[in-house]
Amino acid sequence: MTQPSSDDRDIVWFDIDNTLYSASAKISHAMGERIHDYFVGLGLGEEEASELHLHYYTQYGLALRGLTRHHDVDPLDFDKKCDGSLPLESMISFNPQHRKLFEDIDKTKYRVWGLTNAYKPHAERVLRILGLLDLVEGIVYCDYTIPNFVCKPEPEYYHMAMKKAGLTDPSKCYFVDDNRKNVDTAKELGWGHCVHFCEKGIENVEGGRIKEIDDERDPGAVDNDVALVTTLEDLRSVWPEIFKTP
Ligand SMILES: [Mg+2]
Repeated sequence: MTQPSSDDRDIVWFDIDNTLYSASAKISHAMGERIHDYFVGLGLGEEEASELHLHYYTQYGLALRGLTRHHDVDPLDFDKKCDGSLPLESMISFNPQHRKLFEDIDKTKYRVWGLTNAYKPHAERVLRILGLLDLVEGIVYCDYTIPNFVCKPEPEYYHMAMKKAGLTDPSKCYFVDDNRKNVDTAKELGWGHCVHFCEKGIENVEGGRIKEIDDERDPGAVDNDVALVTTLEDLRSVWPEIFKTP
């Protein structure tokens, strides 16, 4: 349930994919293969599909946004064939430590929300499998039903998130995401407590390409003091104030 906007608690925003579960689950690999097959299904050759997949991901943040803009693809069909067909139940599982982490957040002062670039069914499915769905007050997701929907790291997405949660002061936002660009944008927008979840050395698929996760920044990136964690448990020391004291 969305709290009324008079709620002045801070919000702890969690990215979902590759943040609430490890990239070692290889869900990005399975997702990348499905998206590739989707491009091929549009009549593109293997090579062309691969190039365009990367191009759209780089240009628009999500391959799907290029597909809807240039190929008249139905986002709900894409969702069914890509995210919806992932055998998530055999790839990720309930993590009691993460559930305890979420339970230990002091809800009298902090609200917990999801902030994902996936569509709602996938986000809820992941949270349900992980045993976290009931501990999240709301989820801000990419709304595939809206033409030209926005996503991270576009500033509009963060503004929309705050509006949806009824929060006006960005300094009251805590945010953790495995994508550094997403974190950097939050920081630029004045989000108060930004953390990069970085599983250095683990393979991840982005835009259809396998890449080892690293903590390198893009050339010219501003040094912005974002904290790096390698496990969610580290949040207890980075954000000690959000947890209940025993
Ligand atoms: Mg992520």
